[in-house]
Amino acid sequence: MRYRDRLDAAALKRYANALNSRARAVGTSGTLDADALRGVILDSGGRCGWCGVSLMDVDFEVDHIASLHRGGDNAPANLAATCITCNRQKGDQHPARFARQKRAQGSDTALVRRVLAEHGADDAGVQLGLFDETPPPRRVLGLDAPSDDDDAPGSPPPYRW
Ligand SMILES: [Zn+2]
Repeated sequence: MRYRDRLDAAALKRYANALNSRARAVGTSGTLDADALRGVILDSGGRCGWCGVSLMDVDFEVDHIASLHRGGDNAPANLAATCITCNRQKGDQHPARFARQKRAQGSDTALVRRVLAEHGADDAGVQLGLFDETPPPRRVLGLDAPSDDDDAPGSPPPYRW
């Protein structure tokens, strides 16, 4: 709650609309409004969901835990505030694969624990196999297609606390 007063309703709306535009561009359902986005940000506690670094006074991004063109959507449960470094590193990887990387690097955030719990070690291989397929062509409207990261810079811009 201590972050709420620092959040800008207009900026939240712009960011949510940008996320919705990207979801529509890849044919994924789900819409996000400013309040839901605020909830995602507040749920982070001001820390990167993947590595736990503080997001105070730095640019951060909203990561699709399952990326949009892998069937993820804009539901709050599929969104996490993350540092830009983690969002770039994760790219289009399966969330369980990335969670395992983060765990190996010593991260034990709630998001890492949740993803590892949802994709237990036993089925991770199957899940990851599916995600190893070549992704479908990107359909990015009017944007320079970023490398392999659907949350790459361009749109929407990083949000600042
Ligand atoms: Zn991070």
